[in-house]
Amino acid sequence: MTSSLNPQFNQGTRSDEAQKGHKPYRGRFAPSPTGPLHLGSLATALGSWLDARAHDGAWLVRIEDVDTPRTVPGADQLILNQLRVCGLEWDEAPVWQSQRTTHYQNALEQLITIDRIYGCQCSRKQIEEVLQKEGGLIKPNQELIYPGTCRERKVPIQNHALRIRFPHECQISFTDRDLGKQTQDVNTQVGDFVLRRADGLFTYQLAVVVDDHLQGITHIVRGEDLLSNTSRQIYLQQCLGYQTPSYLHLPLVTNDAGKKLSKQTKATAVDIAHPESIRASLNSAANHLGLQNDPIRGSISQWLNRKVQEWRERPSYNYFLVPPKSAPSTGFF
Ligand code: GLU
Repeated sequence: MTSSLNPQFNQGTRSDEAQKGHKPYRGRFAPSPTGPLHLGSLATALGSWLDARAHDGAWLVRIEDVDTPRTVPGADQLILNQLRVCGLEWDEAPVWQSQRTTHYQNALEQLITIDRIYGCQCSRKQIEEVLQKEGGLIKPNQELIYPGTCRERKVPIQNHALRIRFPHECQISFTDRDLGKQTQDVNTQVGDFVLRRADGLFTYQLAVVVDDHLQGITHIVRGEDLLSNTSRQIYLQQCLGYQTPSYLHLPLVTNDAGKKLSKQTKATAVDIAHPESIRASLNSAANHLGLQNDPIRGSISQWLNRKVQEWRERPSYNYFLVPPKSAPSTGFF
C-alpha cells in the first residue's frame, strides 16, 4: 500500500521560494459530503495537511456539497469531526459550496460575456448514440467525451445545460510535483464539459476553480483520481484570468481488488469511537503516503509534529506558481 513521492521534482526549498517573493502557502482539503472519511480520504486529508504545515502554510476545509442530490445529510459534520479527532485542525472557518452559488453565477456570466459558453440540449443517451456511431465503445457510468453536437446550434442558455467551448487546438500542460509533466489534449480527451446542469446546479469543475481562486489557494494536494480533471480546470482558470496553483496528486488507497476506496466499493468509515483505531488509521494513512511506519504511542499531536518534520525532509518540494495566462484562442472564438 505504500508509495513514495518522486524526488525528481525537487526544484526549490522553502527559503529559496520566500526569497523569490512567492505568495504564502494556502492549501485546502475539499471533501464531498457523500459519506464519512475512509482510509483513502483520510490519507488525502493528512497529505494536504502535512504539506501545508511543512510549508508553514494555512490549511482550509471546504465542503463540496454543490451536487446537492449526492449530499448525505450529516456527512459534513461527521467529516469535520473525524478531522478534528485526528488532530487535523483547520485555520479558517470551513465553507460550504451550497452557500456560494452567487460566486459561481458571477464566473459563469464572465464566461458568457466572453463567448466561451453554449447551451446544450443533448441527453446522455443522445451523446452515447453519436459516440457509438463514431465507433466508440461506451461503458456504463463512463465519462463521455462530448462530440460538440450543440456547439453551433445556438441553443438558448436558459433551462439548458451550459458547456465550455474549447478552441479547436487545445493542449494543456502542467507539472505535478510528484508525477511530473502532464499534457492533455482537452478536445480529444475531455470534450466541452458542463459548467451548469440543465437542472440549474453548478458543477464541481466550475465551483472548484472559482473557490480555489477566491480562497487564494496556492497549493492543491489531492487524490490521483482527480488528475485527469486538472487540465480542464487550468483551462477554466485561464479563461477567467485566475492564477494556476501548484498541484500534487497523491497515490490512491485501493482495496484488495485494486479498486479505489470509495462509497461504491463499500469502504469502511474511519472509526473515531476508539482511540486505538484512530491511531491505527492515522499511521496507515501516513504509511500509504510513503512515511515511515511509526505506530502512535504518545499524543497524536506529537506524532503529527514528527510527520510534519518527516514530510519537510522529503525531497518533494516544488513551489512554482504559474502566472495567469489568457486561454489559448486558436481561431475558434
Ligand atoms: N470534492 C472532491 C472529492 O471529494 C475533491 C475536489 C478537489 O480536491 O479538487 O473528490
